[in-house]
Amino acid sequence: MGMSKILTTSIFTVGLATVLHVSSYDEPVILTAMAQSGQDEPMVSPVKSRERETYYPNSEDLAPDEMRVIACGTGMPTQRMAQAAACFLVELGNGDKFLFDIGSGSAERISALEIPYTYLDKIFIGHLHADHFGSLGDMFIGGAIMGRQTSLKVWGPSGPIPELGTAHAIEGMKQMYTWDLAGRVGMIDWRGFELEVNEFDHLGENAVIYEDNGVTIRSFPAIHATDGAVSFSLEWNGLKFVYGSDTYPNKWFLEYAKDADIVIHECFIAVPDLVRKMKFTPEQALVVGTQIHTAPEAFGKVMTEVNPRMAVAYHFFKDYDTTAEVHDRIRSTYDGPLSLAEDFMVWNVTKDDIKVRMAVVEEATWAPPLTGPAELPGENDRQNFADATGVPVENQTNSDFIAEGRWSDVDDVLRDVYKEASEVIGREFPYPAD
Ligand SMILES: [Zn+2]
Ligand SMILES: [Zn+2]
Repeated sequence: MGMSKILTTSIFTVGLATVLHVSSYDEPVILTAMAQSGQDEPMVSPVKSRERETYYPNSEDLAPDEMRVIACGTGMPTQRMAQAAACFLVELGNGDKFLFDIGSGSAERISALEIPYTYLDKIFIGHLHADHFGSLGDMFIGGAIMGRQTSLKVWGPSGPIPELGTAHAIEGMKQMYTWDLAGRVGMIDWRGFELEVNEFDHLGENAVIYEDNGVTIRSFPAIHATDGAVSFSLEWNGLKFVYGSDTYPNKWFLEYAKDADIVIHECFIAVPDLVRKMKFTPEQALVVGTQIHTAPEAFGKVMTEVNPRMAVAYHFFKDYDTTAEVHDRIRSTYDGPLSLAEDFMVWNVTKDDIKVRMAVVEEATWAPPLTGPAELPGENDRQNFADATGVPVENQTNSDFIAEGRWSDVDDVLRDVYKEASEVIGREFPYPAD
């Protein structure tokens, strides 16, 4: 641990969803408290602001040598308000940002961080379970509407056959959104509606799948429901982040995650709670909880072997009555630094320190700032879309039959809206019907 730490034993407060997870005593805080005890002056000002043990998005610079990881989904394949499914954002001091998995519900969490969507255009998918890429469509469509001015770039594994690979899944998703896209093309800035797929070999062992701007991302096989699941490592500036996605404990993870700075590995709900809370039969709970996924006891053994500066357990419902079971079972096999992840947990990682906090976010967010000027739709957008999808240009807008059903009595008030905009902005906006 860092120079400012006097104790490396981790302390955890479990069972309280919003409590800060302190990873060690902080020496300056203790020394200050000791120095101040016995003095007449109050130990804390009644009027001055103090440093908060909370991360408020967009209120802190990222240092040039700093990595910030934010949990945007830590839950399960089943939906709940409290936790979205798997998604971790990695932000680097060089300006790069990467999303690892984009599970169901995670796009809402991402929106709460109010990061411009152009900066969120790189997504790495570990496997094609819905709880690991179910929000990809939201990022694709919603992200473009909210100002992404670049194509969305997706990296994901091949499968043992093409039908089980990422390219096939994304092609199917694009087809699913044919109507959605056909009705938008020609109306808005189209740059964000492009989708780029980078499918890589799921059997690659520590294979480089991304290298740019000092960042190297590698993949290695994971053992999950069927072949085609992978784990990732990201190395930058002497820091190493590892993300397991879903996997049974495996030899590749032990080797390629070894001694990394922050290591995220799935840790499933303890078997008794799978029976009690998830209503699994004991047979099903044992198979799913220990054979398909990683049981807490096994997670602990993995981390003892990997020896990270911070181990992160996710993929369990973290409640007042389930967290202790997960924690105690991990602690039966691992006594190093540990975070039991929940949505909006934040790790600030530098060579000297790993600070763990919870973010407090806005819920009613709007579009974040644009990264460049918006562009009008391109003249050829509709024809290009027709060529790519087979949807004729005339079917990308309402037919005469439907258009003639428009109620003309609102025409006058809508013309006024155009007039008002033209006057206020000082530019002529012609009314569409004219
Ligand atoms: Zn899975
Ligand atoms: Zn999963």
